[in-house]
Amino acid sequence: MSENETSETTTETAAEIPVEKPDRDGLKTAKSLVLVNTGHGKGKSTAAFGTMLRAVALDWPVAVVQFLKSGDWNTGEEKIGRQIGVNWFSAGDGFTWNSEDLDESAAKARGAWAFAKETINSGDYKLVIMDEISYAMTWEWIDADDVATTIASRPAHVNLILTGRDMAERVIAQAHTVTEMTKVKHAFDDQIVAKKGIDY
Ligand code: ATP
Ligand code: MG
Repeated sequence: MSENETSETTTETAAEIPVEKPDRDGLKTAKSLVLVNTGHGKGKSTAAFGTMLRAVALDWPVAVVQFLKSGDWNTGEEKIGRQIGVNWFSAGDGFTWNSEDLDESAAKARGAWAFAKETINSGDYKLVIMDEISYAMTWEWIDADDVATTIASRPAHVNLILTGRDMAERVIAQAHTVTEMTKVKHAFDDQIVAKKGIDY
């Protein structure tokens, strides 16, 4: 059964209305959820894109912002995501070199965050995925406090997924569901390179 998208969209912020009224069993219904996929094992981005499929199946407007992807790196998830109507933004898209930005990667990450923040605050999307955003905070290209504040004050209907190793504690504190992917083994440990169709 699909949901009525229009009636769910609201200008209330998530911080104002975090949950709906408890039912008789003491269970609550969230208007939106914040997920973090972190840890050093494989599967953080894969899980985010799996959730993307569920959202698209409900005709939710979905946006993906990739913080570390270089422009000419073509992944399967981007190809299919664009085909099924996901608004896909990669760091570097629309990027113009500014001599004040000494580090191009930092500038791209800041551009990706500006786009992500605007996308969240617009309320136009029911799911916004910020893939590999943790690294931009770890390297202090973007401010973790700004990210945490943006999460807390997002429009109430906007669900978020943030991925990447070593996610900032301030961001983890704002999330409802945090999964730490643990590496038991990884093919790369045996010098096996990333495999198209499986890894990208
Ligand atoms: P995936 O995109 O496959 O879900 P991920 O998002 O969990 O992986 P990233 O840190 O984004 O992991 O790494 C992306 C790439 O690095 C993928 O090709 C993935 O297979 C590979 N990778 C993930 N974890 C490890 C690891 N522990 N050692 C080596 N390579 C890894
Ligand atoms: Mg990843």
